[in-house]
Amino acid sequence: MTDSGSRRGAAIDRETLWSDIMALGAITDPARPYTRRSFSPLFLEGRTWLRQRMHDASLVTHIDAAGNLIGRRDGRSPSAGVIAVGSHSDSVPSGGRFDGMAGVVGGIAIARALAEREAALAHALEIIDFLAEEPSEYGLSCVGSRGISGCLSQEHLALRNRQNETLEAALARVGGDPSRLGEALRTDIKAAFELHIEQGPVLEAEGIDIGVVTAIVGITRFEIEFQGTAGHAGTTPMGRRRDPLIAAARLIGWVRETAELFAARGSGHFVATVGVIEALPGASNVIAKSARIVIDARSEDGALMSEFRAALEAQSQAAAAAATVDRLAFRLLSDNQPAICDPRLREVLGLSAAELGYSCMAMASGAGHDMAFISRVAPASMVFIPCKGGRSHTPDEWASAPALAAGTEVILEAILRIDGVP
Ligand SMILES: [Zn+2]
Repeated sequence: MTDSGSRRGAAIDRETLWSDIMALGAITDPARPYTRRSFSPLFLEGRTWLRQRMHDASLVTHIDAAGNLIGRRDGRSPSAGVIAVGSHSDSVPSGGRFDGMAGVVGGIAIARALAEREAALAHALEIIDFLAEEPSEYGLSCVGSRGISGCLSQEHLALRNRQNETLEAALARVGGDPSRLGEALRTDIKAAFELHIEQGPVLEAEGIDIGVVTAIVGITRFEIEFQGTAGHAGTTPMGRRRDPLIAAARLIGWVRETAELFAARGSGHFVATVGVIEALPGASNVIAKSARIVIDARSEDGALMSEFRAALEAQSQAAAAAATVDRLAFRLLSDNQPAICDPRLREVLGLSAAELGYSCMAMASGAGHDMAFISRVAPASMVFIPCKGGRSHTPDEWASAPALAAGTEVILEAILRIDGVP
């Protein structure tokens, strides 16, 4: 990794970048570091701090109708549109200091570097803290980026938390305007960048500085139920059983083997997981009456997912038949398409990493991100940096100061290239 900042008079102040990430992390529930849940008083405290840092970087701030905190600096050419850099400042309970925050604080560091240049960019620059990327108390994730891409519906706004507050009321409480949600929809973003920790082990294990994301996987969840006949575990002979858990067990093994084959196909990232298994009545001396499993499958290739779905449907019937039980249900719990990162931005990011002397690889994102929604209305891209042990959503989450600076510098360099700065 080189030590030089970006050329052309716009260098990232690495020390301030690092002290900012630590300062934002310190705004946490002291009993549960690092926790700053969206819509909470701590979240608003974090935003007050972020707003001040945006002002310090010569940005003019506002909160849009969908509750996103936006710091903006106008460009020289009003018709050029906007270059956006953003991520999220909310955390999961007992999360880390980097997931989301790296992208917001990194964006402010870019604005600070550009503010020190004599001339403004041709494009307007916007640094965005997207509202509530993590699943919120209202059961919805990516609230702000849904708003920007026109995907926040009236049904979403009617969702309620445990205190019976609607998302609509919560949105108004944090400065959004649910009655003018249409105004949050953006068509003027010409390029969007998100810096994020990888949240997986690949970059660290490979010793690579920068991951340029090819696509954010689509996530499909299936629920399958088998039904057999409950019976006495001691007196029912083995040959006379109709045990639905046997069908579930066979299918779990098949999911694993098939996912490995699909991952090796060369069609990009593919993973599948059975994380839920339930047998009823669930007693050690009773042959189960019914068994239920939930499968989470993720792919960056929609065609591969369709193929998996068809194979799973057939295999679940076969597993039921082999165990002489019934397949009671095959339900699609959720299904979303992969989001492809913009090829031109990917190329510019790769060139920028090379220019700055950073090693770089293409990789898919196995986790969801705000850019999955932004990609519906604008060319969108993501830069991953290594995180220690691939760990995330835990207080142990860690990215090094040089890694954070590297990711930020690559995006700054890419912005200068897109803007046509000589
Ligand atoms: Zn995140």
